[in-house]
Amino acid sequence: AELDTLDIVVLGVILLGTFAYFTKGSLWGVTKDPYANAFANANGAKAGQSRNFLEKMEESGKNCIIFYGSQTGTAEDYASRLAKEGKSRFGLETMTADLEEYDYENLDALPSDKIAMFVLATYGEGEPTDNAVEFYEFITGQDASFSKSDDPPLANLRYVAFGLGNNTYEHYNSMVRNVDKALQKFGAQRIGEAGEGDDGAGTMEEDFLAWKDPMWAALAEKMGLEEREAVYEPTFGIIDRDHLTPESPEVYLGEPNKMHLEGTAKGPFNSHNPYIAPIAESRELFSVKDRNCIHMEIDISASNLSYQTGDHVAIWPTNSGDEVDRFLDIVGLTEKRSKVITVKALEPTAKVPFPVPTTFDAIVRYHLEICAPISRQMVSTLAAFAPNDEVKAEMIRLGGDKDYFQQKTGPHYHNIARFLKAVGKGSKWPGIPFSAFIESLNKLQPRYYSISSSSLVQPKKISITAVIESQDIPGRDDPFRGVATNYLLALKQKQNGDPNPSPFGKTYALNGPRNKFDGIHVPVHVRHSNFKLPSDPAKPIIMVGPGTGVAPFRGFIQGRAKQAQDGASVGPTILFFGCRKRTEDFLYESDWEEYKKALGDNLEIVTAFSRDSSKKVYVQHRLRERSKDIGELLSKKANFYVCGDAAHMAREVNTVLAQIIAESRGVSESKGEEIVKNMRATNQYQEDVW
Ligand code: FAD
Repeated sequence: AELDTLDIVVLGVILLGTFAYFTKGSLWGVTKDPYANAFANANGAKAGQSRNFLEKMEESGKNCIIFYGSQTGTAEDYASRLAKEGKSRFGLETMTADLEEYDYENLDALPSDKIAMFVLATYGEGEPTDNAVEFYEFITGQDASFSKSDDPPLANLRYVAFGLGNNTYEHYNSMVRNVDKALQKFGAQRIGEAGEGDDGAGTMEEDFLAWKDPMWAALAEKMGLEEREAVYEPTFGIIDRDHLTPESPEVYLGEPNKMHLEGTAKGPFNSHNPYIAPIAESRELFSVKDRNCIHMEIDISASNLSYQTGDHVAIWPTNSGDEVDRFLDIVGLTEKRSKVITVKALEPTAKVPFPVPTTFDAIVRYHLEICAPISRQMVSTLAAFAPNDEVKAEMIRLGGDKDYFQQKTGPHYHNIARFLKAVGKGSKWPGIPFSAFIESLNKLQPRYYSISSSSLVQPKKISITAVIESQDIPGRDDPFRGVATNYLLALKQKQNGDPNPSPFGKTYALNGPRNKFDGIHVPVHVRHSNFKLPSDPAKPIIMVGPGTGVAPFRGFIQGRAKQAQDGASVGPTILFFGCRKRTEDFLYESDWEEYKKALGDNLEIVTAFSRDSSKKVYVQHRLRERSKDIGELLSKKANFYVCGDAAHMAREVNTVLAQIIAESRGVSESKGEEIVKNMRATNQYQEDVW
């Protein structure tokens, strides 16, 4: 009987479409809570779910499946947008699919009147994203075997592909390139071009938009699809839960999953289940007023988390109070912010991206990336809900004209609420169905930090070194502030005695839902990396880490100092560090002195201060000056490490190193580059860049 009630509710919401949200779902009189979603299980919704995607497509009447390999949520977001657009413009029955959740032997059984889409991010050094590892190994492996024995096996498979990459990395978009190649090798037919988005050039969104229109045209032609006028249909229904209040124990106020709600959180802690870690200590590292960088020690001793030197820790941030207020205000939800609601997927394959029942306040504060840049496609979607015709016309223009959009939004660091406020000239936007935000805004993402301590020295305390993101914006009196770093700064201020911290006027719900983060806690998980010291400490190492790029190297050096103290023979250890001024932002100066006591002349810190003299000096220059020593150490098989800024520094260091090698070995520069490539392939050259 409970299911029947639910079916009726769902039907009602579908029929009434966008009105559902305004007529307050209370009309349907839901009285019980049949809405346990994925978050009941801390490790996602995988338990007991079929791994057969064809079965899932058949069950739910789908003819288009959009697989995504996503690390930071962008590929997942693009997949959802393709799903939405395929349905509204072409009447395709679409579903998105996390690559991790299915098996692929039956890819050959997808009939040619159905379509598969692949949206694939490349991570780090040409690697698949965590959720795409198995798929990637299967499809590019030597012995991928399919369910039937057709030859070629994937002759029936029709697919489209888009990759998300970063041209500052060596293996640009290698995921989509290699998967595309593998699919073609098996006889699959690609429709349209395989698109490539470039985060390095900052054109990801526009690359995606430029790829998808010709792709849809090619797909429509091939599959005989008729384009129709796109009408917005919500993917999620919002249902009031009038008999619940924020005090009701089953209501999520920001808790990431059911165990956290019930206060029984336990490991394994991972990207679905953070550990609420006490912060043992936090302090400022810069001695200059207008810039901040914090060192924080995160205590994992009461958890079963572990790390190795060179790993990353993920910090789960909370949006700042002023941004939450601004968002709720512009969409007309301020008064309803604490109302308990549930969110129901109106599509059998759509997933509500946070646990319910909950409140608008909790969704906006803990689960949606409300401060991020806005997408032009979202602007087009929201045009239909503009407060008046003039604003609607402006939204349509902004959505359709790339240059105009760039000119109006680019310099302002607008987030969605600031954008709506500016375009609406002060009018509120109460007509936007809340579903549109759940669909169009990313899930609030954890931010990664390179661990700056050594697991040899402090296995149960993770330290991070985070520079606070801030940007002055012409014409705006409050500067742009990064989400996670300013949250960390507020935590640091509270820990150091400020009862009501408000860095740059921003306040945060530092106590967390139901005070569960009280006493200076932060939700974290650990991500293991391949950025590692050589197993033999006698091997020399050369590290290049300007700014916060020094973080993992503090861990490396701390560890080698400990090994030396314990009597091991430790090889030459050279760090190239750069910053603006010795007196302002020279990170960990006193720590280096400390480690020198153990490592002696085997530790050398080579500094480049760009603003201490009239001539700007960067780490690359120092590397050049030391080419002879570097050439010698490399001939003794030294490992070479680079950490920090991917866009400029890491690239230039790569070039300089190739030149140094060319000179020291008397070979051409292109040969030098080839040698660096080989060093990368054999892990003699390792990067940890962002
Ligand atoms: P965000 O709010 O995420 O903003 C980040 C940037 O995005 C802004 O500076 C801006 O350029 C852009 N942006 C955001 N919103 C808008 C908008 N509305 N309009 C226009 N532009 C916008 N950082 C460290 O300090 N130390 C480390 O050791 C470290 N290690 C890392 C290791 C890895 C593997 C990775 C991937 C990243 C690492 N980072 C590190 C970076 C860190 O993860 C964060 O990206 C950084 O701290 C900023 O986070 P934030 O939430 O404060 O800023």
